[in-house]
Amino acid sequence: MSKPTPMMTQYLQMKEQYKDSILFFRLGDFYEMFYDDAILAAKELEITLTRRDKKNAIPMCGVPHHSAKGYIERLIEKGYKVAIAEQMEDPKQTKGMVKREVVQIITPGTVMDDMISENESNYLACLHLSGEEYTIAYSDVSTGELKVTQCDETTMLNEMSSISPKEIIANQALPSNIDQHMRLMTNVVTIYASDASFEIVDGLKETLQPAVNLLLSYISETQMRALDHIDQPIEYAALGHMRLDMYAKRNLELTESIRLKTKKGTLLSIFNQCKTPMGNRRLKDWIERPLVHKEQIEERLNIVKLFNDEFILRHNLREALTHVYDIERLAGRVQFGNVNAKDLIQLKYSLEQLPRINELLNPFNNVVKGLEGIQSLAPLYQMLEESIMDEPPTTIKEGGIFKDGFNAMLDEYRDAQKNGKAWLSELQAKERERTGVKSLKISFNKVFGYYIEISKTNLVNIDIAEYGYDRKQTLSNAERFITEELKEKEALILGAEEKAIDLEYDAFIQLREQVKSYIPNLKRQAKRIAELDCLQNFSEVATNNDYTAPIISNRRVLEIKDARHPVVEQVMERDQYVPNDCTLDDNGFIYLITGPNMSGKSTYMRQVALISIMAQMGSFVPASYAELPIFDQIFTRIGAADDLVSGQSTFMVEMLEARNALVNATENSLIIFDEIGRGTSTYDGLSLAQSMIEYVHNHIGAKTLFSTHYHELVGLDQSLDGLNNIHVAAKEYNGELIFLHKIMPGAVENSYGIHVAKLADLPDEIISRAGHLLESFENYSIKDLNFVGRNETGTPKIVDESESKHNQGLNSDVRMTQGNQAIMQPAFDLFGESENNEIITELKNLTIESMTPIEALLKLQQLKSQLK
Ligand code: ADP
Ligand code: MG
Repeated sequence: MSKPTPMMTQYLQMKEQYKDSILFFRLGDFYEMFYDDAILAAKELEITLTRRDKKNAIPMCGVPHHSAKGYIERLIEKGYKVAIAEQMEDPKQTKGMVKREVVQIITPGTVMDDMISENESNYLACLHLSGEEYTIAYSDVSTGELKVTQCDETTMLNEMSSISPKEIIANQALPSNIDQHMRLMTNVVTIYASDASFEIVDGLKETLQPAVNLLLSYISETQMRALDHIDQPIEYAALGHMRLDMYAKRNLELTESIRLKTKKGTLLSIFNQCKTPMGNRRLKDWIERPLVHKEQIEERLNIVKLFNDEFILRHNLREALTHVYDIERLAGRVQFGNVNAKDLIQLKYSLEQLPRINELLNPFNNVVKGLEGIQSLAPLYQMLEESIMDEPPTTIKEGGIFKDGFNAMLDEYRDAQKNGKAWLSELQAKERERTGVKSLKISFNKVFGYYIEISKTNLVNIDIAEYGYDRKQTLSNAERFITEELKEKEALILGAEEKAIDLEYDAFIQLREQVKSYIPNLKRQAKRIAELDCLQNFSEVATNNDYTAPIISNRRVLEIKDARHPVVEQVMERDQYVPNDCTLDDNGFIYLITGPNMSGKSTYMRQVALISIMAQMGSFVPASYAELPIFDQIFTRIGAADDLVSGQSTFMVEMLEARNALVNATENSLIIFDEIGRGTSTYDGLSLAQSMIEYVHNHIGAKTLFSTHYHELVGLDQSLDGLNNIHVAAKEYNGELIFLHKIMPGAVENSYGIHVAKLADLPDEIISRAGHLLESFENYSIKDLNFVGRNETGTPKIVDESESKHNQGLNSDVRMTQGNQAIMQPAFDLFGESENNEIITELKNLTIESMTPIEALLKLQQLKSQLK
């Protein structure tokens, strides 16, 4: 390989410093990428990969600088960082190499502008680990928000999943289990070190400062500018909310659906009545962090109730909010310094609504708490109203921003321009008269400035020299001229324009600085508006969907009547959804739920969890009556069978999640175990399921919904006081299965597995054979079982009533062994007749490991044909 050119040397040196970014290297009108960056970018952006420098065949690709934004956006979305290197000198005026510098690094957590979604926050989080203690500092650079908290590992994991950052930086390599968790949220996890320290608000705990410093240092290093746009850090307690770990959030589909990772089908999608992006962002935050303090919950509920009752108030408030733009991000842009005049007009329109909103709310200040004190920021409104035109341009470099009368100097320049134009039209009239050419016109273009144009047909009749015309340009059918007079006027007009543009630019920067002083107050109002928007959203949704106000219980009682699943009911025809009750209290706090597949077990359990979350968010709930305790946390474990997250549905993960619940749950928690134990063999699964229920019952006392396909477990209500059986009813009609989706007390009589198989259109032969087999299993159980069997009505019974509940450990163990035999023994009767014994022997002796699939199939066919 020959020596790199000087430019490539410059490139390589730069790339060395920005190894983990894709380097956009400015070359004239293009940003070029080389080597691996080029290969990667060409693939991700679907652009052509070429070679620079034939000899060395360096891979290269490029994007035009004027359309670079879209490309950068796509790379950021895919989790890459992009370093932008600009030419720092004008190549035309530089001899030799043009100086280049990286001016910004754009990363998923620091990107601004319209590259980010308006309906969710774009957080960059710093995880600072010191000893056992974690500090989380996070910021949304588009609004300047900066928060910090310190917590232990478990709380940190929950908290990080609530923040759901787009990018994470850590002060050291994270323990592998933590790292794994972080990478489920974002692929952009960077170990980052810096000694930089920043001026941080007095009184921020010293232990919190390293995380804040690290975060700020990263922001300033990537944005390469002062940090005026970031607010002072606010400390908060991570424990002030219901804890929802990542699994619970995912399984309950709070903000993202499991299958498609979209908003559709989530709890978030139900609350679609916010009027502002600020409201939508706050809503997402509220869903991920339900409250745990009764007064706070009730404050929100009371406002929702008021909005429900006062239709006109709600209507007018919604109307006012439609005119409110994204004040938080507008304020962020003012702070950051990239605000334009259009933004300030949006800010003005938003401010215009504040006194209106205040007026609407005033009459109710004494009725409920939490409505008072929206400030109108009238001086700021006035300032914007007096200065900026109603429809200003997006750029601040071409004038046309300020109103007439705002600035005397500007008015003068504008006059000169205007007079100049009047003068030009006078001149045009004069020249037409003089030459007698009626079609003579005076026009302007960027290259030649002002000129007089006469068509060739007219030119033949006149003598140009006579009029003092100077030829400027010849077109196919016309000639263009200038005169001394025209040139002078042109200088005047264009000079005034240029001066006006400069003046407007300076005035705008000044105005921006003035607006800056209002930012803290502006952000406070924005926060209030966001909350009001969320609450009117709750009210609107509650009214449209017939929700009721939950009662927050002091008695640790959960009693819900006619409850519906808020999301599932939406996709059904009106009244198709079957409402159900749920009662869990200190006497009966575990429901063991049985029922055929597809009957509605999972839906029912999620419905209880979602209703609890909604209530603690301060929302009304889909039920006719709901008294709810305050849950400190909700745990979910959905069985491997339902676990759709690819690659993760191993039994180990199932057990880890179960452990998480069993170790961390308290008597104030809600646990949802949906068919746990499916990921392993029947007896393992059954044993684990039973021992988990016993553990929750005897040691935790958490309210628990436990669905199971192990019918062997339904007898547990005899030994565990706090456990009740319920089932989802289904009916057999003419051999067909009808799902009633109705929750009933007691255990299910029949698991109807074969019916479900029939619904799925399995071949008839299999269905009828399975039916026979089932019969023989069931006969066997009834004959030979003492512990788990079925009495006449089909409900399980425990025959040995003398076993006392205090002795349940033993009792259960015995049950298990008996249960094993009960089901294993009939297996020897698998083929009914003893003539088939040789086939069984042959089967036993098969070494499947050494067979190819084809051999196995052939063998199977052969065995089948031998069956008598
Ligand atoms: P399971 O967990 O028992 O297998 P699911 O909870 O997954 O069953 O429910 C299966 C389907 O039944 C759901 O997708 C839904 O369409 C329907 N369903 C569940 N509960 C109800 C209900 N209460 N009313 C009407 N349809 C329901
Ligand atoms: Mg299910």
